[in-house]
Amino acid sequence: MYANKITFYLGMPFLMGKVNVGKLKVNMLLYFIYWLALLCFPIMSQKNAFDIEKIQGIYQNNPTLIPLVVIGSGPAGLSAALYTARAKIYTVIISGNEPGGQLMGSTYVENMPGVASDKGHVIIESMEQQAVQVGAHFLDDTIKQIEVAPDGYYFILHTEQGMELHALAIIIATGAASKRLEIPGESLYASQGVYTCAVCDCRQATDKQVLVIGGGDAAIEAVMHLAPYAQSITMLVRRDRMRASLIMQDKLKRYEHVTVVHQKQVVEIVGDDNEMTGAYVLDTTTNEKVLLPAACAFVSIGHIPNTTLFSSLIALDSNGYVELSGRSQETSYPGIFAAGDVADTRYKQAGSASGYGIGAALDAIDYLRKKGFSDGVARSLEPCYFKKVR
Ligand code: NDP
Repeated sequence: MYANKITFYLGMPFLMGKVNVGKLKVNMLLYFIYWLALLCFPIMSQKNAFDIEKIQGIYQNNPTLIPLVVIGSGPAGLSAALYTARAKIYTVIISGNEPGGQLMGSTYVENMPGVASDKGHVIIESMEQQAVQVGAHFLDDTIKQIEVAPDGYYFILHTEQGMELHALAIIIATGAASKRLEIPGESLYASQGVYTCAVCDCRQATDKQVLVIGGGDAAIEAVMHLAPYAQSITMLVRRDRMRASLIMQDKLKRYEHVTVVHQKQVVEIVGDDNEMTGAYVLDTTTNEKVLLPAACAFVSIGHIPNTTLFSSLIALDSNGYVELSGRSQETSYPGIFAAGDVADTRYKQAGSASGYGIGAALDAIDYLRKKGFSDGVARSLEPCYFKKVR
Protein backbone atom coordinates (compact mmCIF):
# COMPACT_ATOMS: atom_id res chain seq x y z
CA MET A 1 0.00 0.00 0.00
CA TYR A 2 2.80 2.41 1.00
CA ALA A 3 4.74 1.46 -2.15
CA ASN A 4 1.66 2.45 -4.18
CA LYS A 5 1.39 5.77 -2.37
CA ILE A 6 5.08 6.56 -2.83
CA THR A 7 4.89 5.77 -6.55
CA PHE A 8 1.75 7.93 -6.78
CA TYR A 9 3.23 10.98 -5.01
CA LEU A 10 6.62 10.75 -6.70
CA GLY A 11 5.05 10.33 -10.09
CA MET A 12 2.22 12.86 -9.71
CA PRO A 13 3.82 15.91 -11.40
CA PHE A 14 5.04 13.80 -14.23
CA LEU A 15 1.57 12.41 -14.74
CA MET A 16 0.12 15.91 -14.58
CA GLY A 17 2.78 17.37 -16.84
CA LYS A 18 2.73 14.38 -19.24
CA VAL A 19 6.56 14.40 -19.24
CA ASN A 20 8.05 15.57 -22.41
CA VAL A 21 11.86 15.51 -22.58
CA GLY A 22 11.83 18.80 -24.54
CA LYS A 23 10.04 20.46 -21.62
CA LEU A 24 12.24 18.89 -18.99
CA LYS A 25 13.21 22.23 -17.39
CA VAL A 26 9.56 23.25 -16.95
CA ASN A 27 8.78 19.87 -15.47
CA MET A 28 11.75 20.06 -13.11
CA LEU A 29 10.44 23.43 -11.88
CA LEU A 30 6.93 21.98 -11.47
CA TYR A 31 8.41 19.02 -9.64
CA PHE A 32 10.35 21.33 -7.32
CA ILE A 33 7.24 23.45 -6.53
CA TYR A 34 5.19 20.31 -5.96
CA TRP A 35 7.65 18.90 -3.44
CA LEU A 36 8.04 22.25 -1.69
CA ALA A 37 4.25 22.45 -1.29
CA LEU A 38 4.12 18.86 -0.03
CA LEU A 39 6.80 19.56 2.55
CA CYS A 40 5.35 22.91 3.64
CA PHE A 41 1.72 21.82 3.98
CA PRO A 42 2.17 19.76 7.16
CA ILE A 43 4.43 22.46 8.63
CA MET A 44 1.89 25.19 7.86
CA SER A 45 -1.07 23.21 9.16
CA GLN A 46 0.86 22.48 12.38
CA LYS A 47 1.90 26.11 12.85
CA ASN A 48 -1.28 27.12 14.65
CA ALA A 49 -1.95 23.78 16.30
CA PHE A 50 -1.63 23.29 20.05
CA ASP A 51 1.50 21.46 21.12
CA ILE A 52 -0.36 19.04 23.33
CA GLU A 53 2.78 17.49 24.83
CA LYS A 54 4.04 20.92 25.74
CA ILE A 55 0.70 21.80 27.30
CA GLN A 56 0.72 18.55 29.27
CA GLY A 57 4.25 19.40 30.44
CA ILE A 58 3.19 22.85 31.59
CA TYR A 59 0.24 21.52 33.53
CA GLN A 60 1.76 18.45 35.14
CA ASN A 61 2.12 20.25 38.45
CA ASN A 62 -0.34 23.03 37.84
CA PRO A 63 -3.81 21.64 37.19
CA THR A 64 -5.66 24.81 36.29
CA LEU A 65 -6.20 24.20 32.59
CA ILE A 66 -9.71 24.75 31.24
CA PRO A 67 -10.29 24.07 27.53
CA LEU A 68 -13.11 26.60 27.34
CA VAL A 69 -14.07 29.34 29.77
CA VAL A 70 -17.35 31.21 29.40
CA ILE A 71 -17.24 34.54 31.22
CA GLY A 72 -20.79 35.49 32.18
CA SER A 73 -23.84 33.46 33.13
CA GLY A 74 -26.74 35.18 31.38
CA PRO A 75 -28.64 33.69 28.41
CA ALA A 76 -25.66 34.15 26.04
CA GLY A 77 -23.15 32.45 28.35
CA LEU A 78 -25.48 29.64 29.36
CA SER A 79 -26.46 28.86 25.76
CA ALA A 80 -22.81 28.90 24.70
CA ALA A 81 -21.88 26.50 27.51
CA LEU A 82 -24.77 24.20 26.60
CA TYR A 83 -23.27 23.74 23.15
CA THR A 84 -19.58 23.50 24.09
CA ALA A 85 -20.16 21.09 26.98
CA ARG A 86 -22.41 18.99 24.78
CA ALA A 87 -19.59 18.88 22.22
CA LYS A 88 -17.50 17.24 24.99
CA ILE A 89 -15.35 20.29 25.54
CA TYR A 90 -14.76 20.75 29.27
CA THR A 91 -16.46 24.08 29.94
CA VAL A 92 -16.42 26.30 32.99
CA ILE A 93 -18.87 29.18 33.29
CA ILE A 94 -17.65 32.02 35.47
CA SER A 95 -20.83 33.34 37.09
CA GLY A 96 -19.62 36.93 37.56
CA ASN A 97 -20.92 39.42 40.07
CA GLU A 98 -24.41 39.47 38.57
CA PRO A 99 -25.11 35.73 38.16
CA GLY A 100 -27.82 35.14 35.56
CA GLY A 101 -27.50 38.67 34.16
CA GLN A 102 -30.21 41.21 33.50
CA LEU A 103 -32.99 38.62 33.06
CA MET A 104 -32.83 37.86 36.79
CA GLY A 105 -34.63 41.16 37.48
CA SER A 106 -37.47 40.59 35.02
CA THR A 107 -40.77 39.74 36.57
CA TYR A 108 -42.82 38.38 33.66
CA VAL A 109 -41.01 37.14 30.59
CA GLU A 110 -43.34 36.19 27.77
CA ASN A 111 -41.05 36.62 24.79
CA MET A 112 -38.45 33.95 25.39
CA PRO A 113 -39.11 31.35 22.70
CA GLY A 114 -40.31 28.10 24.22
CA VAL A 115 -41.39 29.71 27.50
CA ALA A 116 -45.04 30.78 27.55
CA SER A 117 -44.62 33.05 30.58
CA ASP A 118 -42.28 32.90 33.52
CA LYS A 119 -40.13 34.92 35.86
CA GLY A 120 -36.64 35.74 34.60
CA HIS A 121 -34.85 33.87 37.38
CA VAL A 122 -36.89 30.72 36.69
CA ILE A 123 -35.82 30.79 33.03
CA ILE A 124 -32.18 31.28 34.04
CA GLU A 125 -32.36 28.42 36.56
CA SER A 126 -33.74 26.14 33.87
CA MET A 127 -30.96 27.18 31.45
CA GLU A 128 -28.36 26.53 34.18
CA GLN A 129 -29.78 23.07 34.81
CA GLN A 130 -29.70 22.29 31.13
CA ALA A 131 -26.05 23.37 30.86
CA VAL A 132 -25.07 21.31 33.92
CA GLN A 133 -27.00 18.31 32.57
CA VAL A 134 -24.72 18.18 29.52
CA GLY A 135 -21.56 18.60 31.58
CA ALA A 136 -20.90 22.33 32.05
CA HIS A 137 -19.41 23.48 35.35
CA PHE A 138 -19.86 26.71 37.27
CA LEU A 139 -17.32 28.74 39.16
CA ASP A 140 -18.88 31.36 41.43
CA ASP A 141 -16.24 33.99 41.01
CA THR A 142 -15.49 37.03 38.87
CA ILE A 143 -12.64 37.56 36.45
CA LYS A 144 -10.66 40.70 37.24
CA GLN A 145 -7.79 40.41 34.75
CA ILE A 146 -6.97 38.52 31.55
CA GLU A 147 -3.63 38.17 29.84
CA VAL A 148 -2.12 36.02 27.13
CA ALA A 149 0.51 33.48 28.23
CA PRO A 150 4.04 34.41 27.06
CA ASP A 151 4.14 31.57 24.52
CA GLY A 152 0.61 32.40 23.33
CA TYR A 153 -0.72 28.89 24.09
CA TYR A 154 -3.41 29.92 26.51
CA PHE A 155 -5.05 32.79 28.31
CA ILE A 156 -4.40 33.53 31.96
CA LEU A 157 -7.42 34.61 33.97
CA HIS A 158 -7.13 36.10 37.44
CA THR A 159 -10.22 35.91 39.62
CA GLU A 160 -11.42 38.19 42.38
CA GLN A 161 -11.07 35.34 44.86
CA GLY A 162 -7.37 35.12 44.03
CA MET A 163 -7.28 32.17 41.60
CA GLU A 164 -5.28 31.94 38.40
CA LEU A 165 -6.96 29.90 35.67
CA HIS A 166 -5.59 29.00 32.27
CA ALA A 167 -7.92 28.67 29.29
CA LEU A 168 -7.36 27.51 25.72
CA ALA A 169 -10.34 29.52 24.46
CA ILE A 170 -12.71 32.09 25.94
CA ILE A 171 -16.28 33.17 25.25
CA ILE A 172 -17.07 36.63 26.57
CA ALA A 173 -20.72 36.92 27.60
CA THR A 174 -20.47 39.63 30.22
CA GLY A 175 -23.54 41.52 28.98
CA ALA A 176 -24.29 45.17 29.32
CA ALA A 177 -25.60 47.09 32.24
CA SER A 178 -28.45 49.55 31.89
CA LYS A 179 -27.29 53.01 32.82
CA ARG A 180 -28.76 54.15 36.09
CA LEU A 181 -29.96 57.58 37.13
CA GLU A 182 -28.07 57.27 40.43
CA ILE A 183 -30.79 59.16 42.33
CA PRO A 184 -32.44 58.51 45.72
CA GLY A 185 -35.16 55.84 45.63
CA GLU A 186 -33.96 54.24 42.37
CA SER A 187 -32.45 51.17 44.04
CA LEU A 188 -35.11 50.98 46.77
CA TYR A 189 -37.92 50.70 44.20
CA ALA A 190 -36.04 48.62 41.64
CA SER A 191 -38.54 46.01 40.34
CA GLN A 192 -41.18 47.64 42.60
CA GLY A 193 -42.02 50.34 40.08
CA VAL A 194 -38.60 51.16 38.63
CA TYR A 195 -37.65 49.07 35.60
CA THR A 196 -35.09 49.24 32.83
CA CYS A 197 -36.48 46.76 30.30
CA ALA A 198 -39.85 47.75 28.83
CA VAL A 199 -39.99 44.67 26.61
CA CYS A 200 -39.54 42.44 29.66
CA ASP A 201 -41.71 44.30 32.15
CA CYS A 202 -44.38 46.00 30.03
CA ARG A 203 -47.21 44.21 31.82
CA GLN A 204 -46.28 46.00 35.03
CA ALA A 205 -47.60 49.13 33.32
CA THR A 206 -51.11 47.76 32.90
CA ASP A 207 -53.66 50.56 33.53
CA LYS A 208 -51.06 52.69 35.31
CA GLN A 209 -49.58 56.16 35.02
CA VAL A 210 -46.11 55.54 33.68
CA LEU A 211 -42.95 57.63 33.32
CA VAL A 212 -40.38 56.87 30.64
CA ILE A 213 -37.06 58.56 31.30
CA GLY A 214 -34.72 59.24 28.38
CA GLY A 215 -34.84 60.77 24.92
CA GLY A 216 -33.08 58.21 22.73
CA ASP A 217 -34.40 55.64 20.27
CA ALA A 218 -34.56 53.05 23.03
CA ALA A 219 -36.78 55.31 25.17
CA ILE A 220 -39.18 55.72 22.25
CA GLU A 221 -39.18 51.98 21.71
CA ALA A 222 -39.95 51.60 25.41
CA VAL A 223 -42.94 53.92 24.99
CA MET A 224 -44.14 51.85 22.04
CA HIS A 225 -43.92 48.65 24.07
CA LEU A 226 -45.70 50.20 27.05
CA ALA A 227 -48.40 52.09 25.13
CA PRO A 228 -50.83 49.15 24.74
CA TYR A 229 -50.76 48.57 28.50
CA ALA A 230 -50.38 51.92 30.22
CA GLN A 231 -53.23 54.27 31.12
CA SER A 232 -50.94 57.24 30.37
CA ILE A 233 -47.25 57.75 29.64
CA THR A 234 -45.14 60.82 30.32
CA MET A 235 -41.80 60.82 28.58
CA LEU A 236 -39.23 62.92 30.43
CA VAL A 237 -36.41 64.28 28.27
CA ARG A 238 -33.61 66.15 29.99
CA ARG A 239 -32.71 68.48 27.10
CA ASP A 240 -34.77 70.74 24.83
CA ARG A 241 -34.66 68.06 22.16
CA MET A 242 -34.43 64.32 21.86
CA ARG A 243 -31.43 62.35 20.81
CA ALA A 244 -33.74 59.89 19.03
CA SER A 245 -33.92 59.77 15.24
CA LEU A 246 -36.71 61.85 13.64
CA ILE A 247 -38.32 58.76 12.18
CA MET A 248 -38.69 57.33 15.69
CA GLN A 249 -39.94 60.65 17.07
CA ASP A 250 -42.62 60.66 14.37
CA LYS A 251 -43.90 57.33 15.64
CA LEU A 252 -44.81 58.91 18.98
CA LYS A 253 -47.46 61.04 17.29
CA ARG A 254 -49.78 58.09 16.89
CA TYR A 255 -50.28 57.73 20.66
CA GLU A 256 -52.83 60.08 22.21
CA HIS A 257 -52.08 59.02 25.77
CA VAL A 258 -48.34 59.77 25.47
CA THR A 259 -47.00 63.21 26.49
CA VAL A 260 -43.41 64.30 25.91
CA VAL A 261 -41.96 66.92 28.23
CA HIS A 262 -38.53 68.49 27.70
CA GLN A 263 -35.93 69.88 30.07
CA LYS A 264 -37.14 67.72 32.90
CA GLN A 265 -34.74 65.78 35.08
CA VAL A 266 -35.97 63.16 37.53
CA VAL A 267 -34.21 63.77 40.83
CA GLU A 268 -35.88 61.32 43.22
CA ILE A 269 -38.18 58.29 43.13
CA VAL A 270 -40.67 58.16 45.99
CA GLY A 271 -43.00 55.47 47.29
CA ASP A 272 -44.70 53.90 50.28
CA ASP A 273 -41.66 51.75 51.15
CA ASN A 274 -43.28 48.91 49.23
CA GLU A 275 -43.96 50.32 45.81
CA MET A 276 -43.18 53.41 43.83
CA THR A 277 -45.86 56.11 43.91
CA GLY A 278 -44.19 58.98 42.06
CA ALA A 279 -41.08 60.95 41.18
CA TYR A 280 -39.73 64.41 41.89
CA VAL A 281 -38.98 66.12 38.62
CA LEU A 282 -36.85 69.22 38.21
CA ASP A 283 -37.57 71.73 35.47
CA THR A 284 -34.04 72.61 34.37
CA THR A 285 -35.10 76.03 33.02
CA THR A 286 -36.95 77.28 36.12
CA ASN A 287 -35.30 75.07 38.77
CA GLU A 288 -38.80 74.24 39.99
CA LYS A 289 -39.30 70.78 41.48
CA VAL A 290 -42.68 69.05 41.22
CA LEU A 291 -43.95 65.66 42.33
CA LEU A 292 -45.39 63.60 39.47
CA PRO A 293 -47.60 60.73 40.63
CA ALA A 294 -46.72 57.49 38.80
CA ALA A 295 -46.76 53.79 39.58
CA CYS A 296 -43.93 52.91 37.20
CA ALA A 297 -40.79 54.53 35.83
CA PHE A 298 -38.92 52.95 32.95
CA VAL A 299 -35.36 54.24 32.88
CA SER A 300 -34.07 54.10 29.32
CA ILE A 301 -30.93 56.23 29.22
CA GLY A 302 -28.58 53.83 27.45
CA HIS A 303 -26.43 50.82 28.24
CA ILE A 304 -22.82 50.30 29.17
CA PRO A 305 -21.31 47.08 27.80
CA ASN A 306 -19.25 45.27 30.41
CA THR A 307 -16.00 45.29 28.46
CA THR A 308 -13.52 47.25 30.58
CA LEU A 309 -11.76 43.98 31.38
CA PHE A 310 -11.00 43.26 27.73
CA SER A 311 -10.21 46.74 26.40
CA SER A 312 -6.47 46.13 26.02
CA LEU A 313 -6.90 42.70 24.42
CA ILE A 314 -9.67 42.93 21.81
CA ALA A 315 -11.10 45.61 19.51
CA LEU A 316 -14.06 47.57 20.90
CA ASP A 317 -16.20 50.13 19.06
CA SER A 318 -16.44 53.77 20.10
CA ASN A 319 -19.23 52.91 22.59
CA GLY A 320 -17.26 50.09 24.17
CA TYR A 321 -19.09 47.17 22.50
CA VAL A 322 -17.00 44.20 21.33
CA GLU A 323 -16.31 44.33 17.59
CA LEU A 324 -16.97 41.03 15.83
CA SER A 325 -15.48 39.73 12.64
CA GLY A 326 -18.09 39.60 9.85
CA ARG A 327 -21.02 37.27 10.44
CA SER A 328 -19.25 35.41 13.23
CA GLN A 329 -18.79 35.71 16.97
CA GLU A 330 -15.00 35.97 16.63
CA THR A 331 -13.31 38.94 18.25
CA SER A 332 -10.10 40.50 16.99
CA TYR A 333 -8.03 38.08 19.12
CA PRO A 334 -7.90 34.43 17.96
CA GLY A 335 -9.38 32.14 20.57
CA ILE A 336 -11.59 34.83 22.11
CA PHE A 337 -15.26 34.92 21.11
CA ALA A 338 -18.10 37.16 22.28
CA ALA A 339 -21.88 36.89 22.46
CA GLY A 340 -24.93 38.68 23.76
CA ASP A 341 -25.38 42.28 24.87
CA VAL A 342 -21.63 42.80 25.20
CA ALA A 343 -21.43 42.79 21.41
CA ASP A 344 -24.99 43.69 20.49
CA THR A 345 -25.74 47.35 19.79
CA ARG A 346 -29.15 46.60 18.31
CA TYR A 347 -31.41 43.84 19.62
CA LYS A 348 -30.47 43.30 23.27
CA GLN A 349 -33.02 40.52 23.89
CA ALA A 350 -32.55 37.38 25.96
CA GLY A 351 -33.60 35.27 22.96
CA SER A 352 -31.15 36.94 20.59
CA ALA A 353 -28.36 36.76 23.21
CA SER A 354 -29.05 33.06 23.48
CA GLY A 355 -28.74 32.66 19.70
CA TYR A 356 -25.49 34.61 19.60
CA GLY A 357 -24.21 32.41 22.45
CA ILE A 358 -24.85 29.34 20.32
CA GLY A 359 -22.95 30.99 17.44
CA ALA A 360 -20.00 31.77 19.71
CA ALA A 361 -19.96 28.17 20.93
CA LEU A 362 -19.91 26.79 17.38
CA ASP A 363 -17.11 29.20 16.43
CA ALA A 364 -15.11 28.26 19.55
CA ILE A 365 -15.60 24.53 18.90
CA ASP A 366 -14.40 25.03 15.35
CA TYR A 367 -11.37 27.01 16.57
CA LEU A 368 -10.38 24.35 19.12
CA ARG A 369 -10.82 21.50 16.63
CA LYS A 370 -8.69 23.34 14.05
CA LYS A 371 -6.01 23.76 16.70
CA GLY A 372 -5.93 19.99 17.15
CA PHE A 373 -8.31 19.63 20.10
CA SER A 374 -10.02 16.26 19.76
CA ASP A 375 -11.71 13.75 22.09
CA GLY A 376 -8.37 11.94 22.40
CA VAL A 377 -6.54 15.14 23.28
CA ALA A 378 -9.29 16.01 25.78
CA ARG A 379 -8.79 12.62 27.49
CA SER A 380 -5.02 13.08 27.64
CA LEU A 381 -5.33 16.59 29.07
CA GLU A 382 -8.08 15.72 31.54
CA PRO A 383 -5.75 15.20 34.53
CA CYS A 384 -4.69 18.84 34.09
CA TYR A 385 -8.23 20.21 34.16
CA PHE A 386 -9.29 22.61 36.84
CA LYS A 387 -11.87 20.77 38.95
CA LYS A 388 -12.78 23.05 41.86
CA VAL A 389 -16.17 23.94 40.45
CA ARG A 390 -19.78 23.31 41.31
P1 NDP B 1 -28.78 56.90 23.55
O1 NDP B 1 -27.42 57.16 24.09
O2 NDP B 1 -29.03 57.08 22.11
O3 NDP B 1 -29.81 57.91 24.29
C1 NDP B 1 -29.78 58.04 25.68
C2 NDP B 1 -30.83 59.07 26.07
O4 NDP B 1 -30.89 59.10 27.50
C3 NDP B 1 -30.50 60.48 25.61
O5 NDP B 1 -31.69 61.17 25.34
C4 NDP B 1 -29.81 61.07 26.83
O6 NDP B 1 -29.93 62.45 26.92
C5 NDP B 1 -30.62 60.44 27.93
N1 NDP B 1 -29.88 60.38 29.18
C6 NDP B 1 -28.64 59.91 29.40
N2 NDP B 1 -28.32 60.00 30.70
C7 NDP B 1 -29.40 60.55 31.31
C8 NDP B 1 -29.71 60.92 32.64
N3 NDP B 1 -28.82 60.72 33.63
N4 NDP B 1 -30.90 61.46 32.91
C9 NDP B 1 -31.80 61.66 31.93
N5 NDP B 1 -31.59 61.34 30.64
C10 NDP B 1 -30.39 60.81 30.34
O7 NDP B 1 -29.17 55.46 24.08
P2 NDP B 1 -30.32 54.45 23.57
O8 NDP B 1 -30.29 53.32 24.55
O9 NDP B 1 -31.58 55.15 23.37
O10 NDP B 1 -29.78 53.92 22.17
C11 NDP B 1 -28.50 53.29 22.06
C12 NDP B 1 -28.21 53.01 20.59
O11 NDP B 1 -29.12 52.02 20.11
C13 NDP B 1 -28.42 54.24 19.71
O12 NDP B 1 -27.46 54.23 18.70
C14 NDP B 1 -29.79 54.04 19.14
O13 NDP B 1 -29.97 54.71 17.89
C15 NDP B 1 -29.83 52.53 19.00
N6 NDP B 1 -31.22 52.06 19.06
C16 NDP B 1 -31.92 52.02 17.88
C17 NDP B 1 -33.23 51.62 17.88
C18 NDP B 1 -33.96 51.59 16.61
O14 NDP B 1 -33.44 52.09 15.61
N7 NDP B 1 -35.16 51.05 16.58
C19 NDP B 1 -33.91 51.20 19.12
C20 NDP B 1 -33.09 51.31 20.29
C21 NDP B 1 -31.81 51.74 20.24
P3 NDP B 1 -28.92 63.44 26.15
O15 NDP B 1 -29.35 63.39 24.72
O16 NDP B 1 -29.15 64.74 26.81
O17 NDP B 1 -27.53 62.91 26.36
